[in-house]
Amino acid sequence: MQTQVLIVGAGLSGLHTAYECHKRGVDYILLEARSRLGGRAFSLHADESEYDVHKPAFDLGPSWFWPGQQRMLALIEELGLSQQVFFQSGNGAAIYEDNQGNIQRGIVGISMAGAYRLRGGIQQLTNTLASHLSAEHVLCNAVLEQVKFIEQGVSCNLKLVDEDKQIHSKYIIVAMPPRVALANIEFTPAFSDARLQQLNAIATWMAGHAKLVCVYAEKFWQQQGMSGDVISHRGPLQEIHDASSEDGTLNALFGFVGVPPVHRKNRQQEIKSLALAQLGRLFGDEATHPIAVHLQDWSAEIYTATQYDQEIQRFHPANNIAYVQEPGWNKQLIWSGTEAADYSMQNNGFLEGALEASMHAISLLTE
Ligand SMILES: Cc1cc2nc3c(=O)[nH]c(=O)nc-3n(C[C@H](O)[C@H](O)[C@H](O)COP(=O)(O)OP(=O)(O)OC[C@H]3O[C@@H](n4cnc5c(N)ncnc54)[C@H](O)[C@@H]3O)c2cc1C
Repeated sequence: MQTQVLIVGAGLSGLHTAYECHKRGVDYILLEARSRLGGRAFSLHADESEYDVHKPAFDLGPSWFWPGQQRMLALIEELGLSQQVFFQSGNGAAIYEDNQGNIQRGIVGISMAGAYRLRGGIQQLTNTLASHLSAEHVLCNAVLEQVKFIEQGVSCNLKLVDEDKQIHSKYIIVAMPPRVALANIEFTPAFSDARLQQLNAIATWMAGHAKLVCVYAEKFWQQQGMSGDVISHRGPLQEIHDASSEDGTLNALFGFVGVPPVHRKNRQQEIKSLALAQLGRLFGDEATHPIAVHLQDWSAEIYTATQYDQEIQRFHPANNIAYVQEPGWNKQLIWSGTEAADYSMQNNGFLEGALEASMHAISLLTE
């Protein structure tokens, strides 16, 4: 196979790059290791049916974007999704639980109200981008394993579910976290030790997190005058927010699990039970009877988290990628994905950063 631009990773960043290539008539192939598109963007419906952009959904990955994030807002408008945007709910009192389980209601300052969400979850954005791409340009279950710099381009070996393939491309845009790329792909020529250290220092944003969502028949916390916002030092959920749709058709709470990745392994059922008990302490008996409970542990996903990402990060990746065009590759290997966004702009790690990096990558394609 031959192409002009090989885009590796179909998260928001890679999908956006493919969409821009499509609009500009630039030949591209988009590779995705997983069987689904979206990467860290991953949304589900309350009834667990196959994802449909027209139905309300909750997020197991990112949910929020914010006023002022111009790239996100412009893309949503361009894709005709502006009517799907709504504000994160923040009506009602918030709760604080200390490490002894003492509960204080009515605290302020922990609401995420003011953030935006999408009706169909963030996957509404990634799926809508994907709907503009033609199927023959997008390969799922396609794990890039080797990239070799050759005269005037790159040669790539990839593993598909039932066969191996080779692609020759002028450019390769690596739209994934650098740590994940280094853990899964063999680059030739190999990067220097100093460069490996620099790239491996860029933590994959939120890769060490796990998100638990409970779906309910009723939004009982609102009836109690509660917003659903909680900070807990007892856990296992350390931060809880409302994950409902704005139209009352999906009632849900979500929490970030505070148990470190190493202690989460093989304890999914136990964590779910402990989380339900916690929700019962905080919101009463009704909270212990959800319709469904979903636990998404990103630290266990090899295409998101590496051995170095097995911790719950509190701060955005503090290291800059330094070179977006990899030195020694004749400007033909371009790093993208949110971790490659300009650190000084403070978008890296965010959805906005995934778009910023994509736009930068596109601007570096000369022909
Ligand atoms: C729990 C959680 C909550 C978050 N909350 C927010 C939020 O509220 N707001 C916000 O702005 N951001 C949030 N984020 C961060 C947000 O998810 C990311 O900024 C964004 O999704 C990154 O998109 P990306 O395309 O750069 O990377 P990714 O989505 O990680 O995409 C990389 C893709 O590369 C693929 N891949 C990996 N290896 C290979 C290979 N060898 N070959 C082919 N494909 C490969 C992966 O499968 C993946 O699809 C959150 C993240 C998590 C995990």
